[in-house]
Amino acid sequence: MKGEFANHLYTNATLLEGEIDEDRIRSAVANILSAVGEDVHRDGLQRTPDRVARMYGELLAGYRTDPVALVNDALFEVNYDEMVIVRDIEFYSLCEHHMLPFVGRAHVAYMPKGRVLGLSKIPRIVDMFARRLQVQERLTRQIADFLDELLHPMGVAVVLEAFHMCAMIRGVKKHDARMVTSTMLGAFRNNSATRNEFLANIGRGSEPLHI
Ligand SMILES: [Zn+2]
Repeated sequence: MKGEFANHLYTNATLLEGEIDEDRIRSAVANILSAVGEDVHRDGLQRTPDRVARMYGELLAGYRTDPVALVNDALFEVNYDEMVIVRDIEFYSLCEHHMLPFVGRAHVAYMPKGRVLGLSKIPRIVDMFARRLQVQERLTRQIADFLDELLHPMGVAVVLEAFHMCAMIRGVKKHDARMVTSTMLGAFRNNSATRNEFLANIGRGSEPLHI
């Protein structure tokens, strides 16, 4: 299977080589601290550059998650063509404009055409793309395109709802600034009954998003 998908998946998922350079992050963070007038040697800050460096390793791990390895053992050929929906997937990402978090929920659906993916992999795909510097629109699109290339299904739908810290804590503070983005491909785009079934499902019994 690897050969069949590798090229597409790599172009879509942009796997980066090598470890992140924690030393450079540490010195950059120390620079920021002194640039804002802090004493980098005071007790509370001594280990901050190191903590932040390790934190970015975790928050940006998605660049180094191999998409082929992620899904390879979980693809199954089956005769099943009903809508598969995984909703309320929590995600945490960083906006690429401010490097501040945006957090929310993803709802993902597809209509299989002979091939399905193990359910537990869908949250991991969301994570792989969320743990990068992102804009919400592109994150939504990448999840949808990835599933489309991987499964060649009848259709894919992805809806993301998220709060952006950069909108909430800066300038005119908008504490309820919830942003919703969606990508609909194939049957979800062309067939309003399919799309509505999905939208009704993700709207049903859902807790209001809050942070
Ligand atoms: Zn931002």
